[in-house]
Formats: sequence, structure tokens, C-alpha cells
Amino acid sequence: MSQKKYSVVIVGFGGMGHYHSTLIKKNDSLEVTGVYDVKQERLDYGKELGYQTYSDLAAVLADSAVDVVLIATPNDVHKEIAIAALEAGKHVICEKPVTLSSEDFIEIEEVAKKTKQVFMTHQNRRWDEDFLIVKEMYDQQLIGDIFQIESRVHGANGIPGDWRHEAAHGGGMLLDWGVHLLDQMLYMVDSKISSVSAQLSFILGDEVDDGFVSTLQFENGVTAIVEVGTTNYISLPRWYVKGTEGTALIEDWSMNGKIVKRNHEAEKVEPKPIQAGVGLTKTMAPPSEEATVVESLPKPQQNAQSFYDNFASVIEGEAEAIVKNAEVLRNLRLIEAVFEAARTNTTITDFDY
Ligand code: NAD
Repeated sequence: MSQKKYSVVIVGFGGMGHYHSTLIKKNDSLEVTGVYDVKQERLDYGKELGYQTYSDLAAVLADSAVDVVLIATPNDVHKEIAIAALEAGKHVICEKPVTLSSEDFIEIEEVAKKTKQVFMTHQNRRWDEDFLIVKEMYDQQLIGDIFQIESRVHGANGIPGDWRHEAAHGGGMLLDWGVHLLDQMLYMVDSKISSVSAQLSFILGDEVDDGFVSTLQFENGVTAIVEVGTTNYISLPRWYVKGTEGTALIEDWSMNGKIVKRNHEAEKVEPKPIQAGVGLTKTMAPPSEEATVVESLPKPQQNAQSFYDNFASVIEGEAEAIVKNAEVLRNLRLIEAVFEAARTNTTITDFDY
């Protein structure tokens, strides 16, 4: 637990900025003291909630009582705010996607190193229960060696809001949900990626992608399919995972799901053919009840600290960052490879170094 409560000013007090303020209230290491937004109505709302408000970013950065700047603006302005805050001697939490390119992120990293301030990206979905369940199955080999992981989020509401429709603001679903799902995959599978292929979808006619499907091939043999859709009136399950000993399914955010494993105790019986369409099949006949065992999803290991506590511990030199800058950079390179694979309709290699 951190020694002091660090004072935080939220820059960009929209949907996510406000959400941070509610989460930080439940936390002992950080305290939101102020907000800044380019929109007067959001400043007024901040004031109503009892926060100090600032007339511009320079005023936030000039305030010596502020320890941490938390950036929750649209994606295209993360970089300039982050660099200005670091140079003013503030620690920085930045929303995802941290920047629109890996080169931009390297610039931020260099300033963070030079100014010796802590910079962390809010890859909060490393704390999601559904993800931690899959990570637990992967780490503990609960369905044997996992060799295929399918991770999907499907909605039917299109691209939300205003700036998410525009390329100039870093809109589109790959930079929105994609950045989370790809980060989870990289955090879980401890192996380099040898190749990536992908398609982006533009069903809604926006200039940015309204979804995508990507296939990552890891050097250790794992294949990952990562998909985001906003035009799915029927959703596929959140996770479908195959291992050498069984298959796991997580349906939804309520953790409905199960593991079905091979029953080693059962006598091996030849499957009986079933009618399938106009043909017969033994290959696709479901396994007999005795041949499998059904288990509930495991209770996952939690991360050692919450995101905010970890951030404070990193400032105090007491813990390593759970979201490391090198991992964030690797994820940006992967996102660039996904864009490139889709644009050129080719398989991209040699980007994961
Ligand atoms: P939003 O549009 O609701 O809020 C953005 C706010 O930033 C607006 O109030 C806008 O007026 C303000 N703003 C714009 N430019 C600014 C500037 N230069 N300086 C100060 N304020 C400025 O958007 P949102 O959904 O809250 O998304 C904000 C960020 O949070 C994005 O980077 C997004 O990807 C991220 N986000 C993360 C998660 C997560 O789970 N980690 C979830 C949602 C959004």
C-alpha cells in the first residue's frame, strides 16, 4: 500500500474521465482533486461534483499540488498532453490506445525516462475476470496445452459517439476494443508472434473500421483469433479455447460457460454414426456422456494489485508496473501489423522484435 494519497487531475472529463473519478474514490492510493476539459459543460459538471477546475492545461501543469495527470481525452491528443505533463514533472496515467503509432509512443517513453516520471497506460482489461479465467487455464494447463484461443466482442450498436468515427481522432474499433483484446493475448501467451493476417470491416460506411478479424500465429504453436464486431445481431461467445485435453467456453460478461474435458477413465468406444444433413458422419458425432467430463470455470488468480495501487507503488519504487511500457509498445507494433495485413491483404511477419 502506498505511503501517501497522490493528487490526480483528470484531463478529458467525458465518459471515461468520469468513470475514473468514480473508481478512484474507492481507492486508497490516489485522490481526484481536479478536472480539466475543453468543454465548459464538462467543467461545470466537475465543479458540481466538488472538483477544482482549471481554465487550461497550462494551469493544471503549473499547479504544484498536482502529482498525477490522468489523460482521458480522444486518442489523437494523448501524446501532446502526456509529453507536456511529464515535462512539467507530473506522473501520467494515459488511456488506451496510448498513441496512434509506435513511433509516437517511443517519444513519450523517452521523455518519461529523461524526466524520471512514471508513465502507465490504462490497459485495465488485464483485470477482467473472463480474461483472468482464460489466463488461469493457460498458465495451469487446465485443458492441457492450449493451442487455439478465440477472443471476441460482438455488439450491434455500430461505432458509438462522435470522435470514434473519425480517423484524425484515432477512431475505429481496432484502436478501441482491439487494443484491449490484443493486449490480453500478448500478456497471456508468452511467445513471439511469427505472423499476422487480418481483415477490417467497413459495413457502416465510416472512414474507420467498424470491426475486424485477425489471426495471430505465435512461435510456440498457439493460434489466436481476435475479433471485434459492431454489426452482430447475434453474438458469438466471448471466449472459445481449445487445449490438448479439452475445450472451454465463456459465453458472456456474466461468466456463463464451462470446460468439457476428455475422460481418461472411460473405455474408448467407437462413435456411432449420426445423420448430419443429407449424410451420415461418425467424425462429427458428439462424444458420448461417459467419454467426457464437464467442469465449471476455474476461480482465477487475481493480479497482485489494482491498477491504481500498482501505479502508486511504482512511483514509490516498491513494485514493477503491471502494465509495462515495453508491452504497450509491442501491442502498438502488433496493431500496426494488423492494419498493414488488412490494407495489403497479406500475412505480416518480422514485426515482433
Ligand atoms: P468522451 O468523448 O466521452 O470524452 C472525452 C472528453 O475529452 C470530452 O469531454 C472532450 O471534451 C474532452 N477533450 C477533448 N479534447 C481535449 C483536450 N485537448 N483537452 C482536454 N479535454 C479534451 O470519450 P471517452 O469515451 O471518455 O474516451 C476518452 C478516452 O478514454 C479515449 O482514449 C478512449 O479510448 C478511452 N477509454 C478507455 C476505456 C477503458 O476501458 N480503458 C473505456 C472507454 C474509453
